[in-house]
Amino acid sequence: LTKDRYKVQRGKYASLTDKDVRVFEEIVGKTRILTDDADVEAYNVDWLRSVRGFSKCVLKPKTTEEVSAILKYCNERVLAVCPQGGNTGLAGGSNPVFDEVVISTSLMNNILEFDSLSGVLSCQAGCVLEQLETFLLEQGHMMPLDLGAKGSCQIGGNVSTNAGGLRLVRYGSLHGNVLGIEAVLANGEIVNCMSKMKKDNTGYHLKHLFIGSEGTLGFVTKVAIQCPVNPKSINVALLGLESYDKVLEILKTSRRDLGEILSSCEMMDLDALKVVEENLKLRIPIKECPFYILIETSGSNSNHDEEKLALFLENALDKKVVLDGTQASEPSRIKQIFELRERIAEALLMDGFLYTYDFSLKPVDFYSIVPALREHLKNLPNVLRVNGFGHFGDGNLHLNVTSKEYSKEILNTIEPFVYEWVSKVGGSVSAEHGIGFKKTGAVKFSKTPQAIKLMQQMKGVMDPNGILNPYKVLPL
Ligand code: FAD
Repeated sequence: LTKDRYKVQRGKYASLTDKDVRVFEEIVGKTRILTDDADVEAYNVDWLRSVRGFSKCVLKPKTTEEVSAILKYCNERVLAVCPQGGNTGLAGGSNPVFDEVVISTSLMNNILEFDSLSGVLSCQAGCVLEQLETFLLEQGHMMPLDLGAKGSCQIGGNVSTNAGGLRLVRYGSLHGNVLGIEAVLANGEIVNCMSKMKKDNTGYHLKHLFIGSEGTLGFVTKVAIQCPVNPKSINVALLGLESYDKVLEILKTSRRDLGEILSSCEMMDLDALKVVEENLKLRIPIKECPFYILIETSGSNSNHDEEKLALFLENALDKKVVLDGTQASEPSRIKQIFELRERIAEALLMDGFLYTYDFSLKPVDFYSIVPALREHLKNLPNVLRVNGFGHFGDGNLHLNVTSKEYSKEILNTIEPFVYEWVSKVGGSVSAEHGIGFKKTGAVKFSKTPQAIKLMQQMKGVMDPNGILNPYKVLPL
């Protein structure tokens, strides 16, 4: 966690003065500004403990108008800022790199409106995903996205990273589910695109500029999102398989036999599941197998869903595609099974240091990078684990390496090896975690020079002084 790990120069931004702090106090009040090092510390470090910034000031606005006043002032002073939601991002985008002022959305947490006929929820950017899920369940609806970080991540952060998660296979990405966005531009102007209509072809779809741009084009303050009806029947199956060929077979048959009720299709290799057993003491309820698939079905008729799932499992067992399996429909058992998958990242981090990658790959290429990387790292004695798991139904692999502590040698052996591999097979070097600060050097493996140039031009138009989340997303 040292500054010299970064090969980046501080931009020509102003440095925070006492006068700036007084102006911020006028905007948000004295109680919603943090300047003590101890209070600011948690905002400077990421969830993975892999990056550290040196901000001296955190602001906690409650309204769009306050965000607007802060940005207008920062833009005029050319003070760099770093938007922060739940600080669960895995690409180092949510933390300052140098002394950027952190603008946290944690107090912008009001649910504004829910229309039970259209299923559209409007809320402020700082609502925690789980808080929204709890609210919606009472209305018979649900959020169209779910992730392991749901207890801390916020909807503004989800939108800004275009988070994917466990339900994307069924409900699609936030580019489809987010109907409206209100955002504040670098100069403080408020752009209200809070449409609540599913269809709205009135010119350029500006909301898409804010979805997935990781706080570099605007500060998201409100979101309107389409929320499906909560399914009446949910079933989960954890299956053990002997080879990756069988995993591919399950992908095919689950799509064919479960069709519209398939709502999650996750894959874990043995090494990834072992880590939750070893580090978190969670029990794996089926016998040890080289691969595991977690399938969730959600539907409106339990008889229909159970019949479909039973037939699918029967076929898989008869044809010896599956070595062992367990099924659950009670919420507590479902939670236990999902925990095995959702807590892998937390368990990996307990090894010490986690090098984590998030790739989009075709099913046929999905897993081959894991053994290839294992082989590539075999002469480095400090490597503890190399494993793979992920949102298999979406072709999204999380590739992980752990060591007791950070090692430059390990990092330099992993990169650019893995990026070149992914680029060669036409995959994406960031499926859902974004580019943030840590992956700016990898953008070129998935985007052409022309595309990168256009991205830079868009940044220039929307944030000419470059104050919004500098050193992030665009190649330096
Ligand atoms: P932060 O981490 O605070 O910020 C993320 C980025 O968005 C930063 O660049 C930040 O500057 C920007 N930002 C935040 N708020 C705003 C705003 N209001 N306006 C403009 N920019 C903003 N991700 C997935 O996609 N799928 C998963 O399944 C998944 N699982 C995870 C599991 C665990 C255990 C953990 C720790 C993380 C996981 N993530 C996953 C990554 C992370 O949770 C998501 O990226 C999440 O969307 C980040 O939300 P956040 O509120 O924590 O944002």
